[in-house]
Amino acid sequence: MKIVKCGDLGFKCNFMAAGNELEEVEKTMLDHIEKEHKEELEKMSEDDINHLKHRISTLLGRSCGCGALHTEDSF
Ligand SMILES: [Zn+2]
Repeated sequence: MKIVKCGDLGFKCNFMAAGNELEEVEKTMLDHIEKEHKEELEKMSEDDINHLKHRISTLLGRSCGCGALHTEDSF
């Protein structure tokens, strides 16, 4: 089970996308962002959006979603 939290992506939001496949969760989260955070998304540059997607993959790849997220803010 993979979980990514919207709040971990920098949005003030309690939404969580969960699923067994990385791609599935990634898609759910991106769909959510497109619907619920359209305004923020429109303000973002292509670079920011790529960064956001990368961050989703990193969060999904690195953690089982049990809450032990080790976010390195090294950007
Ligand atoms: Zn959200």
